Amino acid sequence: MGEVYLDYNASSPLDPRVAEAMMPILTDGVGNASSVHRFGRRQAAAVDDAREHVAALVGGRASGVVFTSGATEANNLALQGAVEASPGGRQRMLVSAVEHASVAGTARLLADYGLVKLDVIEVTSGGFVEPAIVEEMLRDDIVLVSVMAANSETGVLNPVGEIAERVRATGALFHCDATQMAGRLPFNMEALGVDLVSLSGHKICGPGGVGALVGTRQSLRRLEALLHGGGHERGLRSGSLNVAGIVGFGAAARIAAEEREQESETVGALRDRFVSELQATLPRVLQNGDPSRRLPNTANLCFVGADAEAVMANMDPVAVSIGSACSAGSIEPSAVLLAMGRSHETAFESVRFSLGRFTTQGDIDLTLQRTVTAVEYVRIMTG
Ligand code: PMP
Repeated sequence: MGEVYLDYNASSPLDPRVAEAMMPILTDGVGNASSVHRFGRRQAAAVDDAREHVAALVGGRASGVVFTSGATEANNLALQGAVEASPGGRQRMLVSAVEHASVAGTARLLADYGLVKLDVIEVTSGGFVEPAIVEEMLRDDIVLVSVMAANSETGVLNPVGEIAERVRATGALFHCDATQMAGRLPFNMEALGVDLVSLSGHKICGPGGVGALVGTRQSLRRLEALLHGGGHERGLRSGSLNVAGIVGFGAAARIAAEEREQESETVGALRDRFVSELQATLPRVLQNGDPSRRLPNTANLCFVGADAEAVMANMDPVAVSIGSACSAGSIEPSAVLLAMGRSHETAFESVRFSLGRFTTQGDIDLTLQRTVTAVEYVRIMTG
């Protein structure tokens, strides 16, 4: 029996074309990209080419791309970097209630250290941030506001442009974690008025362990580096570059930009058919997150009366995920679903299905079958 991978939001498979683009660097790519000899210059040229593609994916400039080890580091750099570059100045930070742990945790730590006062922006029951709520919270001492483009658990989209417009008027930096959005739906940081964007290679069928913070000339000047050393990446991220990873990230960004529209249509149709057939077959299947403003690849479903962990365990060989996480020996419900006003019970009964480039109708057929069997079994066993 074939395996089915429906956990693209956690990590997507490496596109063979990306692997092919990385191969020459892995096998023949000699030299530090900072070295001035011909070997180093060749590596630097490959990095610069990737920089163009990564920038183009989000409507930024190549000169604004700071390569990092992933979106986690990009988010840390944006938040911590902005606070450290603004000592004694603006010292309040606004972060949405549904951010990834690398934003939420960093903001909390900065607040615990007494470096910022943290205000959390609540979301609607549909899982998105209302621009009017942000507007009410804005003041003139805010260093940075962080609101993600698309949520990894629900796929729900935020009205980034409307929020950015309001934030910019206060002079605060506006950071947007576009890790799940990039490559799936159009995102143009310049048109939206976003100052800093976080991205990750392995969410767009590129390699893991590489990502970027993309800024503007002005916004990058308002950051302090986290990693100090040889002054790479405009002094914002020291460390010899991961050339093969960066080249793979660039290739993935290029392919995503070229194929995004068609891919989203195909994947969206598969996702919609999956959800409607599931709801037609199984009673009491609820959707988490506003379905009218959502990534085309994501469905977060609550199977009422069926524990999500038990459902997932019975779905093998279909890989999906649950938002609840094991923390210090006890299972914690998804903070995202709780922030949307869902009960603990609903959070523990919710499963995320995330599709992508290589998902087929056959995958969906098997997933439907396994999901129905698993949910019915768990409901009977625990009902
Ligand atoms: N932000 C979001 C929204 C994510 O979904 C993820 C990955 N789960 C990250 C940041 C972290 O990305 P990385 O794995 O590249 O550190």
